[in-house]
Amino acid sequence: MAANIIDGKAFAATVREKVAGHVTRLKEEHGITPGLAVVLVGEDPASQVYVRSKGKQTVEVGMNSFEHKLDAATSEADLLALIDQLNNDPTVHGILVQMPLPKHLDEDLVINSIAPQKDVDGFHISNVGLLATGQKSMVPCTPLGCLMMLRDYHGSLSGMDAVVIGRSNIVGKPMAQLLLGESCTVTIAHSRTKDLPDVVRRADIVVAAVGRPEMVPADWIKEGATVIDVGINRIERDGKKKLVGDVDFAPCAERAGAITPVPGGVGPMTIACLLANTVTACCRANNLAEPEGLTA
Ligand code: NDP
Repeated sequence: MAANIIDGKAFAATVREKVAGHVTRLKEEHGITPGLAVVLVGEDPASQVYVRSKGKQTVEVGMNSFEHKLDAATSEADLLALIDQLNNDPTVHGILVQMPLPKHLDEDLVINSIAPQKDVDGFHISNVGLLATGQKSMVPCTPLGCLMMLRDYHGSLSGMDAVVIGRSNIVGKPMAQLLLGESCTVTIAHSRTKDLPDVVRRADIVVAAVGRPEMVPADWIKEGATVIDVGINRIERDGKKKLVGDVDFAPCAERAGAITPVPGGVGPMTIACLLANTVTACCRANNLAEPEGLTA
């Protein structure tokens, strides 16, 4: 039986619409315009594309976008001074420093210098701790997007067996925390996991976040399972450049109950969730009710 395809592109459009609605209300009822500051250090081409896309979508939902492009040789002191300035700027509700940073800059130090309440990437150690202890936090955008799609498809996730493949700080670990928060029974798999196929075969929900093209074959997937493919891998096949996930999509779609495609699945949700986090941060900063359905 062919799986339901979870359309992340369409879902992201509904998230952006909700965000735009809240932005309009914040402007009309409270005279507040949410603002997102994005800091880019250096000229990494992929980062430039991401930053442009984030800025464009921020403006499209009616928020202010503040872009700070710094030279690749920028000193740590200068970068920290900019972050301090943004932390103290009341028109800035969200701050994102585009990763990766040039080698001479300490990423952990930079992330942890962002005010936690403005940390819309959810990477600050305070937000990591709040999420791990089940408290209100800023939630990393990619896992938040995955959770929104899972909730939308299933309603309650309580009691389901979930396997997250990958244990990175930006995807795997927060994804596992979120699924635990939904009362799933969660297994985190990684490169040292013994018998990964067997672990994945037990799962009602599989989240693949590895970065290895099509590494999950159909015979790892339990019949009817929901498969969320976070991987983004650029490959060349039959002389053509192609984007594929960590899951072998077509055969897995024959066994799964629901599956996200690559492209058009998790990817579009990530920026939509960044906008959602910014509007949430703005509401919290102004002691206003948080938008429903846009947080974990
Ligand atoms: P990392 O490289 O930080 O983490 C990869 C994880 O996969 C590690 O925990 C690693 O295990 C594990 N792993 C590696 N090889 C295997 C294996 N053979 N079997 C099982 N586990 C393995 O990657 P990220 O979490 O940053 O990203 C993962 C993927 O998601 C990438 O393709 C990335 O491009 C994509 N991505 C997509 C986003 C989106 O918006 N859609 C956003 C962020 C990432 P170990 O810890 O043991 O080394």
